[in-house]
Amino acid sequence: MIAADGARISPRPQQEVVVIKVAVLGAGGRMGQAVCSAVLADPDTELVAAVDPGHVGESVAALTGIDTDLDISADLSAVVDAGAAVAVDFTTHDVSVDTLRFLADKGIHAVVGTTGFSESELDSFREGFKKSNAVIAPNFAIGAVLMMKFAEMAAPYFDSAEIIELHHENKVDAPSGTAMLTVDRMAAASSDWTPDPTTSEVIEGARGALGPGDIRVHSVRLRGLVAHQEVLLGTTGQTLSIRHDSIDRTSFMPGVLLAVKKVGGLPGVTVGLDDLLEGAD
Ligand code: NAD
Repeated sequence: MIAADGARISPRPQQEVVVIKVAVLGAGGRMGQAVCSAVLADPDTELVAAVDPGHVGESVAALTGIDTDLDISADLSAVVDAGAAVAVDFTTHDVSVDTLRFLADKGIHAVVGTTGFSESELDSFREGFKKSNAVIAPNFAIGAVLMMKFAEMAAPYFDSAEIIELHHENKVDAPSGTAMLTVDRMAAASSDWTPDPTTSEVIEGARGALGPGDIRVHSVRLRGLVAHQEVLLGTTGQTLSIRHDSIDRTSFMPGVLLAVKKVGGLPGVTVGLDDLLEGAD
């Protein structure tokens, strides 16, 4: 190319486009189907394997409505055979614990939405992920990430706090991973909470479950809901309610795709999305 002054301009070097090969585990489930659709629709990602023993042989195109030749495989060997760089796991707690060991051993990055891990299980993942990395987030919706951040910020200014998490009728674990992470963060931000005044419960459990920092957590399971949480804080003469509602599973997909794209650059195990959102556009 010749510039106006006659000088030769070398063409801009073409940026190499690296498409990330992704496997989805739990591909036939509610979240797995949404992740398959999101990965298929994103030009920076390629769906190379879909695993779900409960849906073996089903066509991913039929599940997602997006054109692809991929069928659902029975087990994790499909992830290795397909050369996936990242595996996204939305299965169940027990399955996921074994899967993460497998992925760490094979050096495949993991993006994990499955909930219900204990602190000791997270520690064992931290031990295991040396050859590859993992992002584990109990909630991939940006609004939920902000809800947790706001609750943590507000905690030192209030005397009492309770969390109500509300989910669809098929959720098997309680309280939700989001509620547990929120309460952990609030308890770390303040240890100065007014003691519970209750001396008797007419029905056992009426006051919910006692979380870290003695913050109470209440779990609601109701047909028609997706994923919702309200953090209630109170002090003299005032209350603050911080509420987030996921009304559709697409709410989680930008966060999942962000994690898929960033997990390779985040050594070890990252819990929550906050670190990924710093500087994200
Ligand atoms: P679901 O029951 O609809 O789907 C789970 C799927 O996993 C099922 O299809 C099942 O057949 C499959 N499965 C079982 N064993 C498997 C194995 N060995 N390998 C691969 N797949 C296997 O559940 P869901 O509503 O999709 O939720 C899945 C998980 O995601 C739950 O733990 C839920 O709490 C969590 N979740 C997280 C977020 C988030 O943002 N992090 C959002 C929603 C749900």
